[in-house]
Amino acid sequence: MATHRLNSMELKKMNRNAIYRYMYTQQSASIQDIAQALNLSLPTVTQNLKELQERELVVENGLFESTGGRKAKSLACNSVAGYAIGLDVTRNHVGIVMIDLSGKVVKNVRNQFSFANNEVYFQGVGRLVEEFVEQCRIDRSRILGVGIALPAILTADRRAVSYATVIDFQGGSIERFAEFIPYPCILSNDANAAGFTELWGEKDIHNVVYLSLNNSVGGSFIVDNQIYAGKNHRGGEFGHMTIMPGGRTCYCGQKGCVDAYCSARILSDSTGGSIVEFFRLLKEGNEPQQAIWEEYLDYLVVTINNLRMLYDCDVILGGYAGAYMEDYINTLQGLAARKNTFEPDGSYLRVCKYKLEATAVGAALELVTDFIDSI
Ligand SMILES: [Zn+2]
Repeated sequence: MATHRLNSMELKKMNRNAIYRYMYTQQSASIQDIAQALNLSLPTVTQNLKELQERELVVENGLFESTGGRKAKSLACNSVAGYAIGLDVTRNHVGIVMIDLSGKVVKNVRNQFSFANNEVYFQGVGRLVEEFVEQCRIDRSRILGVGIALPAILTADRRAVSYATVIDFQGGSIERFAEFIPYPCILSNDANAAGFTELWGEKDIHNVVYLSLNNSVGGSFIVDNQIYAGKNHRGGEFGHMTIMPGGRTCYCGQKGCVDAYCSARILSDSTGGSIVEFFRLLKEGNEPQQAIWEEYLDYLVVTINNLRMLYDCDVILGGYAGAYMEDYINTLQGLAARKNTFEPDGSYLRVCKYKLEATAVGAALELVTDFIDSI
C-alpha cells in the first residue's frame, strides 16, 4: 500500500462512491441500512445522500414499514439519471441500443448498413444515431456517450484500429465516427464488449471465457471482471487458434484456424445466410443441417475443451450461433465432458444470457461503468 493519506476530498469521494455502489446493488435501502452495510456514521451517509439526491442520482421511492417510531425513508438509484448508447458495427449492419444506468435496454434497432471506409458511411452512421436518439425521446443532456464496438483489434489506447479484415478499417480511428456523433465516443472490440455484458450484474462469477460464434469467431477472457487485453490487445482472439494443422484456409490467410470450422457461417451457408432458418431446419430434423451440425460440434467441442484447459473457468457460448444453442446445451456439455481429462460433467459450459444485441449493450455498459467510477 502507498503511504499516501487520503485528504478530506478524496475520502468524501470514496464514501460517496461506496454509497452509490452499494445502492446500485439494492432495490431500495434506508439510511440506516447503508450506514450499517458500509460501516459509516449516519451523518456521513445523510450528507452524501443529500448530495447524490441533488444530482438526481438517488431518489426517494417510498417509506419502509414502521418497526415502531418514525417510518424510515426508502431510497434507490435513479436509473434514468443517465443513458448510454451502444453501436455494434458489423460488415453489413449497425445495431444500436440505448441503455439506462441500470443496464436495461430502453430501445434497440438493427439497421442494414454496409461498412465502407469513407465519409458517406460515417456521416450515415451519425444520421442513424441521431434518428435513434430522436425516437428515444429522452433528455439529450443525460446521454453519457456512444460506445462503438468493432470487429477489429484496437490499439492500446483504444482510439484506433491496429488490425481489421472483417471490415476494411485497418488504421482507422475513433475520429472518423466522432466527427458525426455529437456525444463522447469510445471504441470497443466486439467480442470483448459482448463478454463484458455477460458478466454484468453477476455477483459470484468474476472469471469467464466468452466464445463469440459470429460470422467471424472471436472471444474474450475476463479475469476479476476485467477484460484481459494482452500485450497487443489480441487476448481472446480464439478464432485464430489452430485446431487442424494444414486444414481449411481461414480468412486471415492461415490454415486450420478455429474460425474456418466454427464460424456461424459454416451453419448459415446452408440456409442462404440465415442462422434462424438453420436452427429451425435442424430442429425439424432436416438431414443436411443435421450432418453440418454434427461436424460443426466436433470442432466446437475441441475448441471449448482447449479453452477450459487453458483457463479453468466457465465457458460461455455467444454470438449469432451461440445464442441459438440453448436447446442443445445438454448435448454440448456431454460431448465437452467426454473430451476432458478432468471434468466429471460439462457444467462449466453454458449459453449466453443476452441473446439480443449483447455487443452493443457491452459497448454502452463501458460508459456506464466509467460514469459510476466518476461518482
Ligand atoms: Zn485465422
